[in-house]
Amino acid sequence: MATKNPLQLKYEESRRRLLMDRSVPGRMGVSLPPNDVPEQPMPGSDILRNEMDFPEVTEGEIVRYFSQLSQFNFSIDHNFYPLGSCTMKYNPKVNDEVAGLRGFTDIHPLQPESTVQGALKLMWELQEYLAEITGMPGVSLAPMAGADGELAGMLMARAYHLERGDTQRTKVLIPDSAHGTNPATATMSGFEVVTLPSDARGDTDLDALRNSVGDDLAGLMITLPSTLGLFDSNIDQVVKIVRDAGGIVYGDGANLNALLGRVRMGDLGFDVMHSNLHKTFTQPHGGGGPGSGPVLVGPRLLPYLPTPWVTRRADGEDETFSFTTPEKSIGRMAAFHGNFGALVRAYAYISTLGKEGIAAISDDAVLNANYVMSQLKDDYDLPYDRVCMHEVVLSARTLKRQHGVSALDVAKRLIDYGIHPPTMYFPLIVEEALMVEPTETESKETLDYFIEVMKTIAREARDEPSLLHDAPHDTPNSRLDEARAARQPDLRWRRQT
Ligand SMILES: *Cc1c(COP(=O)(O)O)cnc(C)c1O
Repeated sequence: MATKNPLQLKYEESRRRLLMDRSVPGRMGVSLPPNDVPEQPMPGSDILRNEMDFPEVTEGEIVRYFSQLSQFNFSIDHNFYPLGSCTMKYNPKVNDEVAGLRGFTDIHPLQPESTVQGALKLMWELQEYLAEITGMPGVSLAPMAGADGELAGMLMARAYHLERGDTQRTKVLIPDSAHGTNPATATMSGFEVVTLPSDARGDTDLDALRNSVGDDLAGLMITLPSTLGLFDSNIDQVVKIVRDAGGIVYGDGANLNALLGRVRMGDLGFDVMHSNLHKTFTQPHGGGGPGSGPVLVGPRLLPYLPTPWVTRRADGEDETFSFTTPEKSIGRMAAFHGNFGALVRAYAYISTLGKEGIAAISDDAVLNANYVMSQLKDDYDLPYDRVCMHEVVLSARTLKRQHGVSALDVAKRLIDYGIHPPTMYFPLIVEEALMVEPTETESKETLDYFIEVMKTIAREARDEPSLLHDAPHDTPNSRLDEARAARQPDLRWRRQT
């Protein structure tokens, strides 16, 4: 890499400077008109905060500052973003446009229902779409995120058992290939978690499952496809064993990209599931929201759905929509009606694609992941060598043993090639894991570029490992101390003394 001359380094340093450090006394970002009202005395100095610092910058400088900051960011609108289990696919702009219509943005959650029938109709139709897509008849759009949908689902499972007097059903089985939120949710809902091992193929170990079910079984939470990117080929057996033992079967369908139009959790016998609208059904996400994680149930849990739930009454041509509370509802997940803007975007997305478009998502998502897998399996370890679903879990185990290059080093080096790192060190059962989810919206050219870059990095690991240890090189900040960034975050500007 060419070394930078002092002037180039100075330029880079200037781009990293915070707004306060760009301040020069006397500079102004606005010009005010001459005062045309009488001057008033200032409040007493006891309530004036003299210690407050405001940056003094020109308008041009402040625009540059924020524009530069926005370029330090990375988003799906910038480049390829293969972050496994997060489904960073392209979000069509028409969805945002629809969600921004004044009829949607200018309504208030406390308005009388008769004045927001259009919004209620949209919610009802979205419930119907999701019910058809998943084969689960009951849908509540209230949960604000995937983990919130899980919480709703497991609270329903708890209410179901308690109502039947089954207070001894306290145990929830969770395969070790499940998403990390699953055990957290089961614990928060008051259950005791028992981890099930995966077998050599990456499926749920059926013998371990049979040995774990009994009178104390509350249910099972399974991520499908699993976080290994695999469709559990024992799923029929898994569902049957749990149901026969009186347990509730929970399906984590946060990422349905691989299943859309092919497999419905309802048809497989699941009692309850959630899906992330902000992953499967496109919303700009990352950085903490806003998301939406509708919870969907089969007949056993229908009476327990959280409120509100939109129902329709039809009388000839006339239809009326209203918020309803199911008979034995577990109550509210949030103050109002879920993240309405996210619901509008998902509705726009599903309506635009239609039935055939929805099925094409799974074709392309699975094809893309398998293409990446087939091209990279000689350069990286592939712990489970079988057809994958919407994502593929590779491993940098051999690179680490032979060249001291870790999954973290590979991920950081990808940034130098303009690619967002994949999910790393997850799932926990794969050593040096790199979890790649290409999604269905990427072109073959982009996938080929990614493949070439990954092969190049594997070569660099052999020939010049130090290049990877220090990566990324071409970003405003190079390799950070991640432990210190998490433990001693430096979030506030302080005057240098
Ligand atoms: C993202 C994800 C979740 C959690 O969803 P949030 O919206 O982040 O709460 C749960 N399960 C799986 C499989 C996921 O990928």
